[in-house]
Parts: sequence; C-alpha cells; structure tokens
Amino acid sequence: MSYRETFWMACDSTEQLRAEYGPFHTRAEAETEARRLGFDYLLRYEHLLGENEEIQEVRCIFIELSGVVPAAEPVQVTLHTRCATCGESATHEKGWEAEVWADIHEFEHSRHRVRLFRHALGKGLKEISGWRG
Ligand SMILES: [Zn+2]
Repeated sequence: MSYRETFWMACDSTEQLRAEYGPFHTRAEAETEARRLGFDYLLRYEHLLGENEEIQEVRCIFIELSGVVPAAEPVQVTLHTRCATCGESATHEKGWEAEVWADIHEFEHSRHRVRLFRHALGKGLKEISGWRG
C-alpha cells in the first residue's frame, strides 16, 4: 500500500535554478506567501510513498499565478422611483433618468411625490431620502 503526500512551495520561476520557499501544507498558504514575495509560481509536489514511507515517485507541477487579480464583481445598482401618492413606479440605471422621470411625473400630476430607492444586488432596497432637495 502506498500513499501520497502533497505539499506546496512558492517559487519565482520554473527554471532549474529557481528560488523556492516553503513548504506549505495548503495551496492557499503557498499562494499568500508567493504574492508577498512577488513570486509568480507555485510548485505542487506529490510524493508517492511506499509502505516504509520511502519515496517511490516524485511529481511536481508548476502553477502559474495569474498576475491579474480578478476584479470584484461590480455591484449592480438600479434605481427605483415610486410615486408615494399614486404608486406608479419605474426602474432606472442612472440618477438623472430617475430625476427626469420624477420631474415629468410630478409635473403631470401636481402634488404627487416621487420617492427614490436604490437597489443594490444582494443588499436590498434602500430609500434615498431628501433626494429632490
Ligand atoms: Zn403619482
């Protein structure tokens, strides 16, 4: 029966004469260290161990860390206007669109008051008070 032992190193290149730092038990630890050191690669070592823990086979795999940190998903925000008086509502992408809608609505229906809500995905609806100055 053989079993496998895996560990991770942070390294600066895939060349034979590379700087390596580690070992780490998890990829996340190695990745954190690699980023701290400005290293671009992770090296994953797999040791296949025999019954007496002798190493039967060594495998290593380089993993390039992409320098591009994925940008956080832009939070999608939509604006909702809703007339407090008659209940008519609309959705807008931009602030000025909401204002235009409210202007028109309040112009066409005197003494109606339009409320504005900001809806951020995953954060729910939030009223923006006093938005009409
Ligand atoms: Zn209205």
